[in-house]
Amino acid sequence: MTLQFYDTMAREKRAFEPADPTRVTMYVCGPTVYNYTHIGNARSAIVFDLLYRVLRHHFGEAHVVYARNFTDIDDKIIKASKETGAAIADITNKFADIYRAELQDLNALSPGFEPRATDHIPEMIELVETLIKQGAAYEGEGHVLFSIEAFDDYGRLSGVDRDEMIAGARVEVAPYKKNPADFVLWKPSKDDEPGWDAPWGRGRPGWHLECSVMIEKQLGRTIDIHCGGQDLRFPHHENEIAQSACAHQGAPLARYWLHNGFLRMGSDKMSKSIGNVVLTHELLQDWPGEVIRWALLSAHYRQPLEWTDELLRQSKRQLDRFYRLLEEIEFSDEAGAPPASIVLALDDDLNTPEAFAGLHEIRDIASQLDGEARKNAIARLRSAGRYLGFFAHRPGDWFKGAAGEGPTEMEIEALLQERANARKTRDFARSDQIRDDLAAKGIIIEDGADGARWRRE
Ligand SMILES: [Zn+2]
Repeated sequence: MTLQFYDTMAREKRAFEPADPTRVTMYVCGPTVYNYTHIGNARSAIVFDLLYRVLRHHFGEAHVVYARNFTDIDDKIIKASKETGAAIADITNKFADIYRAELQDLNALSPGFEPRATDHIPEMIELVETLIKQGAAYEGEGHVLFSIEAFDDYGRLSGVDRDEMIAGARVEVAPYKKNPADFVLWKPSKDDEPGWDAPWGRGRPGWHLECSVMIEKQLGRTIDIHCGGQDLRFPHHENEIAQSACAHQGAPLARYWLHNGFLRMGSDKMSKSIGNVVLTHELLQDWPGEVIRWALLSAHYRQPLEWTDELLRQSKRQLDRFYRLLEEIEFSDEAGAPPASIVLALDDDLNTPEAFAGLHEIRDIASQLDGEARKNAIARLRSAGRYLGFFAHRPGDWFKGAAGEGPTEMEIEALLQERANARKTRDFARSDQIRDDLAAKGIIIEDGADGARWRRE
């Protein structure tokens, strides 16, 4: 089977053929850095981390160029700065660092480029000027607006009907707009707001413009794959497409469009207004990153994913079973080539449920074998898991790691020390009590020649 992805623009799976197999380009719309991100944001980052891994496998690590941006100028950031008194750069640097660290905990590879919007302001002004010259944009009360009449294909990606869009008030009506669906390329800044001098007055870029410019600067005019969450199809991606195509004599922004589905809390959509938002950094306090990664990839990326505590518990149990087997072979950072069954599953539009089934199958086979054959099968399991971004830990460390519930590593170590002291003073009643208390919390103590070791059940 060939590598194929569901292309939102074509509305079908298409064989993936990059324009230049020695330089495959992908772009993911990254976060606006003013606050902690939620697990829905992480789903997008992890799904497309997997895509990055698959592309690197097929085209070679040196031949895939991946950029994921930071939006570091935005009304929400300005508001956060006014509310907290912190400088904008301090807020955006802090949350960009946190975002990076969180994704590292989820075993995501770093993109080669992480462009920031504020590093591209001159190029943004240039692009707006080009659009004005071509009659695709106009000025109004210090704003510059893109005229959607200038782009015949407007709405093609999302399938949103223009009239319906206006009737449904999904666009902001404003006196300076010729058409309510026209969108902002540049907006004026008040004196106490950050701004840059431009031919239309001091102001700042609109969000959609930022991505178009960063894509061109970092990757080129037409890229291979543009990725993002399903909620970005309209208006964000529709607007990126319109700006870029008009500024580039019709050259398309991307050859393939991939979108991941929503993450739901039970049957509800996760949203700030319902108040059911789960923050990634909070989850990471209770669960190992690989457990969260497993949960995020457990459903096919285009399907909605129901996020529950039970999903996390199940993911932990499954990973524990794999790590139990991995304990039998010597740890290594190196992993062999992934088995064909796993590669083929992901080649088919990143079919993670099928790849997970493949992992279970290899585990079942390995557990029925003995001796060298068993070790080889376990090594195959490790290669398979590593391809998906799992099994990075030493099994010994894994079983000591965050359990979701139960005592922390520090609490356990302190109790073990107390138990060792009790044994020294021959207080065996206390020593046994500590062991039994820990056992009741799922912590197993194994006494050996070089002291006591522990692991989670
Ligand atoms: Zn974007």
